[in-house]
Amino acid sequence: MSTGYGSATVDSLAARRLSRLAGSTPAAELVTAAGRREDFAGWLRHVTPAAGCAHPIRLSGTVFRVEQATGRITSERHTAQMPDGLIYTACGNRRASVCPSCAETYRADTFQLVTAGLVGGKGTPATVAAHPCVFLTVTAPSFGPVHTHRTDRKGRPLPCRPRRDDTSCEHGTGHACWERHTEDDPRVGQPLCLDCYDHPHQAVWNLHVGELWRRTMIAATRNLRQLEKLTGHKLRLSYTKVAEFQARGAVHLHALVRLDGRDPDPALSHLTLSPPPGISAAQVALLLRSAVTETSFTTAPHPYRPHGWPIGWGEQVDPRPVRLAARDLDDAAEITTTAVAAYLAKYATKATETAGHLSARLRPDTVRSYTDHTTHSGRQIDACWRLGQRPVGWDPEEWSTSWGRLWRWAHMLGFAGHFSTRSRRYSTTLTALRQARRDWQRDHANPRPAANKVERLDDGEDTTEVVISALHFAGIGWHTTADALLANTAAAQARARRRTAREELWTTG
Ligand SMILES: [Zn+2]
Ligand SMILES: [Zn+2]
Ligand SMILES: [Zn+2]
Repeated sequence: MSTGYGSATVDSLAARRLSRLAGSTPAAELVTAAGRREDFAGWLRHVTPAAGCAHPIRLSGTVFRVEQATGRITSERHTAQMPDGLIYTACGNRRASVCPSCAETYRADTFQLVTAGLVGGKGTPATVAAHPCVFLTVTAPSFGPVHTHRTDRKGRPLPCRPRRDDTSCEHGTGHACWERHTEDDPRVGQPLCLDCYDHPHQAVWNLHVGELWRRTMIAATRNLRQLEKLTGHKLRLSYTKVAEFQARGAVHLHALVRLDGRDPDPALSHLTLSPPPGISAAQVALLLRSAVTETSFTTAPHPYRPHGWPIGWGEQVDPRPVRLAARDLDDAAEITTTAVAAYLAKYATKATETAGHLSARLRPDTVRSYTDHTTHSGRQIDACWRLGQRPVGWDPEEWSTSWGRLWRWAHMLGFAGHFSTRSRRYSTTLTALRQARRDWQRDHANPRPAANKVERLDDGEDTTEVVISALHFAGIGWHTTADALLANTAAAQARARRRTAREELWTTG
């Protein structure tokens, strides 16, 4: 048929895959789209860095290659000479509901990052694998009874809230619920009585969870000083954590906390050393548990509540020692490194999806459609919105950096923090991982002479070429639906292959 992209095999293979994938889009249209391209393979290579992305950013302009030592421009190329006259970059969104491909990249990066902190690699010494390590889950306290999915030891569902006496609240809602809710029952996490539930307190708690964590780690470090005195070694806690919305709309945190040794010399304190032998993960767990239970504070006054709100953790504190290998797990309370890494990575992308909240900021003209008083989520958003509104007489600057944040983060139910964070010494960074991937893509997927490559000259000096881009924003999205499907299919396959290979490598290592 077409003189298209060189090979009839690619042509028909792509068409078959796409017709399976596309559903409503006729395969013929896609084959035409692919065939229209003079050099399909070249086009695919060109779009590879953004291929799986649902809403890539289109850039146009000039790309310069510059010799770093001399500042001499060795080549320049305008995007007009490239396929589609553009460069595509992935949107980089972390949410699976916005861009499945970029969320998957983020998940895989988080997996690597967490794993590097557990077993070493990516610049982290392999000796960290022997450090005591604890997987800690901390939750919010109760803001009122909610429907829950409960099971017995064998996993059979139990009644939600069994109560012998037939009492009800002042709003006429019964205190008991005898139903056995399944895990995916939409009522799970919904208050028994919307009017009894303390929505303002939950909103304020979500806003302060970052501060609560910070103070908890200070308390834990204070407890660590006693261990330092006992062992005569300097110690540090390194962690990575993810935030997750529970069904009721309160945030909870999963953290991986590792005990490191550090050099007493401040100039060398950035090094990750082995802690002295004899400190067990169970000891670290104990130390964290006491930090969690002893940390609480009262918020600043609010016009609505002049004495502030109490902020502390819920009773459900669960520090579990992390064991390196899946084999010889003799204690059910322990958890393996692989399970931890997969768990944290999954929540880094799923965190925001579960509570059914919104992804966009609210505006005064749109907010009323999200504050339905007959729903739990409506009441949560309404609480944020009301408590975040600046009362007359308050300094706008002061308000916006304090309670005004509730207003700004109403779409996140008051949570203003990052979903996935880590302490400075935990392991590598997302930025470093992304750069490594860009380098890899450029070197492997692109037959053009690679920039940023170090060439060795006769006199033994390194000459580094850098790429400087003078690009501007040219739009969002693929040119056509057919282009999107072509690029996405190719990317999906590559992704599946990479994911399997990479995670097998990491987890068997
Ligand atoms: Zn994307
Ligand atoms: Zn119930
Ligand atoms: Zn009530």
